[in-house]
Amino acid sequence: MRLLCVVFSMFASVVVMADKPIAIVIHGGAGTIERSQLSGEQETSIRADLSQALEVGYAALDDGQDAMDAVVAAIMVLENSTHFNAGKGAVYTREKSHELDASIMRGSDLQAGAVAGIKYTKNPILAAKAVMLNSPHVMLAGRGADAFSKTQNLEQVDNSYFDTEARLEAWRKVDEITQQKGRQEAAISDVLDHEFKFGTVGAVAIDQNGHIVAGTSTGGMTYKAWGRIGDSPVIGAGTYADDRSCGISATGHGEYFIRYAVAHDICARVLYQDKSLQQAADEVINETLKAVGGDGGIIGMDAQGKPVMIFNTAGMYRGFKTKEETYVAIYGDEK
Ligand code: ASP
Repeated sequence: MRLLCVVFSMFASVVVMADKPIAIVIHGGAGTIERSQLSGEQETSIRADLSQALEVGYAALDDGQDAMDAVVAAIMVLENSTHFNAGKGAVYTREKSHELDASIMRGSDLQAGAVAGIKYTKNPILAAKAVMLNSPHVMLAGRGADAFSKTQNLEQVDNSYFDTEARLEAWRKVDEITQQKGRQEAAISDVLDHEFKFGTVGAVAIDQNGHIVAGTSTGGMTYKAWGRIGDSPVIGAGTYADDRSCGISATGHGEYFIRYAVAHDICARVLYQDKSLQQAADEVINETLKAVGGDGGIIGMDAQGKPVMIFNTAGMYRGFKTKEETYVAIYGDEK
C-alpha cells in the first residue's frame, strides 16, 4: 500500500510538472511608433530581432533552465541590437555620452538587482544580475556600479561602443530645439516631454517550476542630464516580480512610472484585489497613467503563464512565445 502511494505521488508530481506552462514575453519600447516612421527594411529587421530574443529565451526555458536565464538571454539579444535603446544603440545624454540602467527581479524570493548610470558594461542586464547574486545590495549607481561590474569579470567596452548614427541624429534634433528655446530648465523639460525616444527593452518569463522573473534594460531618455535615472532600474516602478501575482517590465516616460509605482501597483491589484493581470494592467496604463499624461506600456506574465502586453502609445515593440503561439508586433492596430 505504502509503495503504491509513493508510486502514485511520483506519477502525480510528474503530471503536475508536465502541466506547468513555460512562456516568455518581451518588449523593445513603446512610443510614437507609426508605419510612416519605419522603412520596410527596418521593420523586417526589428521583427527579426524581436523573434530571435523570443526564440533564445524560450529555448532556455524549454531546456529546463530557469526564468532568470531566459530573461537574461532574451534581453542580451535586444541589448546587442542597434534598434533598441539599450546596450548598443542606447540614446545620448546631454553631454553626448551613454549612461545605462538595468534591473532584474526574481518572483520566487523577491530578490532583485539593479544598476543605474553605468557606462562601460557591454550588457547592463548582466551587471544587474550580478548585483542581485553577488552583492549584499539591490541597486548600485554610477562609478561604483562600473567598478563593481569590473570585479564580476563582465565584458567592458569603451563608451563609444554604444554609439549609433540614428541616436546621434535624435540628440541633434533635441539639441537644436533646446538651443532655440534657450537653456532654461523649463525649456529642457518641455523638449524632453515631446522629443524623448522610447526603446527600452524588457522580458518576463515563467519557468517549469512556476517561477517568474522580470528584467528591464535602457539607455534612458535622449538628452538626459545631471545623472537622471528613470524607472527602469527602480524595483517596483519599471520592474517587479512576485510568483504569487505576476512579473512586469515597463517602458515609457519614467518619471510617471516612478511616481505611480507602476510595476508594483499592477502586481498589487492582482494579489490583493484578485484582478486578472489584463484588467489590473489596463487600469494602471489606460486609466491612471493616461489621465495624467504618462505615456508608455508594460509587458507582464501571470502565475498561470498568460502573457499580457498593454500600452497607451501608438505602438510598442513586443512579442510573446508560449507552447501554443509565437507572436510579434509593432503597431497599435496589430491584433
Ligand atoms: N522608461 C525609460 C526611462 O524613463 C525610457 C523608455 O522606456 O524608453 O528611462
